[in-house]
Amino acid sequence: MSLKKRSVFCYLVWLILCALTGCSPEKEEVRTSAGQKHIAGKASYGEEEQVLSGFQMIAEHEAKPYAIVGKEKPSPEQGSRKKKAYLTFDDGPSRQTKHILRILRDKGVKATFFVTGKSSPELQAYYKLIVNEGHSLGNHTYSHNYGYIYSSVAAYHKDTDKLNDLLARTAGVRPDIFRFPGGSDNHLSRKAGGRHIMAKIAREMTNIGYQYFDWNVSSTDAAAVTLPKQDILESVQSNSRGKNQIIVLMHDDDHKTTTVEALPDAIDWLKKQGYQFETLSKSSFVFQFLHPPG
Ligand SMILES: [Zn+2]
Repeated sequence: MSLKKRSVFCYLVWLILCALTGCSPEKEEVRTSAGQKHIAGKASYGEEEQVLSGFQMIAEHEAKPYAIVGKEKPSPEQGSRKKKAYLTFDDGPSRQTKHILRILRDKGVKATFFVTGKSSPELQAYYKLIVNEGHSLGNHTYSHNYGYIYSSVAAYHKDTDKLNDLLARTAGVRPDIFRFPGGSDNHLSRKAGGRHIMAKIAREMTNIGYQYFDWNVSSTDAAAVTLPKQDILESVQSNSRGKNQIIVLMHDDDHKTTTVEALPDAIDWLKKQGYQFETLSKSSFVFQFLHPPG
């Protein structure tokens, strides 16, 4: 009996020891590895701006199903049967800009860059380079911060002006074309400025002389931080079938290495389909998700 009691006591002590020595280091390990992961994640992005940019890319994709039917405004060129491709790169300049520019130069293709505000002189230098190489510059807001730009018409206008002031200083141009971060029918804007904020901003910006552009072909390169090259190529191919005039959405972003990799093949494929490449302007083909504001 006493032996049995002692065994039970020893078993209980063993259990307690197990719990103390076995579980507590495991917990510690979990805590440490989570901590390390957090630190590693932070270190790999480097700066907060890039983390934000990556988040917004994904948010843009989530906010935008690809099968939305847009409103094509009549334009002088729309009657022509010529196939025209307008490649557009959003969110740059970035570490990828030089690669994109080199490929476009090699392929003899002009494109449109919807840029955001950058503070580093190295990145700011690309604004002028883009213009000098014959591409079109468009405004994509200075901050690309949904919470701010979509909080009011005045905020959107102010942020657009802030970028245009920077572009005037650094590249000598004030774009009269722009693309809304997330596109003109993004739903994230509602949280910041209410249900009709996009229509209100579109009306105001159009009234003061701007033209905005959405897209009718998504490369889907915002579907992941870095989407496989082949997926990007196949999206361009499948989304452009049956369309004579295409505005192709792509991103110029540090993480979009596969967009750069897919670009030469995408251009070659589009050329084979008979597309000519042009830049967007107020007189070019227009594609907008929202109906003309009125
Ligand atoms: Zn964007």
